Amino acid sequence: METMETTRTETSAENPAIRRLDEWDAKRLRELADEHGTPLYVQDLERVRENYARMADAFPDADVRYAAKANTSRAVLRTLVEAGAGIECASAGEVERALAAGCPADRVQYTAVNPPDEDLDYAVTAAAEYPELTITVGARDTIDRLEERGFDGRLCLRVNPGVGAGHHEKVQTGADAKFGVPIDRAPETLADAADRSFDVVGIHAHAGSGISGEALGSHRELVSRMGGLARDAPVDLEFVDVGGGFGVPYRPEEEPLDLAGVARATREALGEVEATLAVEPGRYLVADAGVLLTRVNTVKLAGEERVVGIDAGMTHLARPAMYDAHHEMRSLAPDADDREPVGVTVAGPICESGDTFGSHDLSAPERGDLLAIGNAGAYGYEMASQYNSRPRPATVVVDGGRSALDRRRETLSDVTRLEREVPWL
Ligand SMILES: *Cc1c(COP(=O)(O)O)cnc(C)c1O
Repeated sequence: METMETTRTETSAENPAIRRLDEWDAKRLRELADEHGTPLYVQDLERVRENYARMADAFPDADVRYAAKANTSRAVLRTLVEAGAGIECASAGEVERALAAGCPADRVQYTAVNPPDEDLDYAVTAAAEYPELTITVGARDTIDRLEERGFDGRLCLRVNPGVGAGHHEKVQTGADAKFGVPIDRAPETLADAADRSFDVVGIHAHAGSGISGEALGSHRELVSRMGGLARDAPVDLEFVDVGGGFGVPYRPEEEPLDLAGVARATREALGEVEATLAVEPGRYLVADAGVLLTRVNTVKLAGEERVVGIDAGMTHLARPAMYDAHHEMRSLAPDADDREPVGVTVAGPICESGDTFGSHDLSAPERGDLLAIGNAGAYGYEMASQYNSRPRPATVVVDGGRSALDRRRETLSDVTRLEREVPWL
């Protein structure tokens, strides 16, 4: 694709800024559910590529690092690495996955947040084998611990810029004392790290997750402070990483992010810097590329309320219970269009009142109907648990006409596999 065209990809018909739940092919999703059972995550790799292409077009000279924690499926990681993304990792496990997915080590960044010893041991060992790997630290303590382990490789400093943003207070990291070295102490920390023979390569900050609308002002402020720090830094920096957090619309009436506008504002706020800009989108690349398929097992009237019980719950998709997040739902029943929409409360099988997907208008649900839950590609499977001794669901990837099982469904024996005999019982 030519540059002239790619700058327009963002809003083009082939690559719209958002894929809405209605646009998924119901027949194909029914076939996948019949073949693999439910609950079932379906991730469309073609859509992941489109999302990456829009991001890369909006930030043509920036380094795009996919924040793996949004979806660590190997197929997703591979797809993004092949498309040109680096990988931002939040743990040793994610570094392991990034390398296993074929990400070149110079495109892997490990961001250590209060890192357990095992994670640092792993990262330092990995860096000995792959010296191009970058470790990002957010505390003097972590620098000390890396030095104790003999690490003198590529180091990036996570800064607390004092501004945060995001769709829920639980995901606003920018001003949270947990994350990063306070920005006013960053220059001395960078100088000290360079003196101690680390190869100081970058500075990093992340405002939070799911940023859109008015919160963009906070993001601009963060970027501006990072630009200032880059100019004041006592060492030459290779990159200024301003994090991820690019929001996607979860409700039909919400507009998608104006990515070109965000990119322009980011450039302006950053100002003139010698270093390369880096961004770390997670959600934006994978959210609308995934749906969760689930079946209705119970329909009941409780007073005035019509409750629809489904086989997916907070253990499969935690965001509604955890963040009060809204996810669109759609009936995939073959005759859904012929049925009246009715207002229902959708609830999962977990013995917990928080296990609800909230109120929805659905084509009069019947037992056995297949439903699709939208925008499930980010922080969906990743946050799945076995709470209530429920096996985690399977994941299928689709790519054009092809589809393949990506992660098999857990079984009841997976749920009990780690149990050991306690000798006196
Ligand atoms: C979670 C995270 C991201 C990605 O956030 P999204 O909202 O998914 O884009 C990027 N960088 C860091 C350091 C993160 O922790």
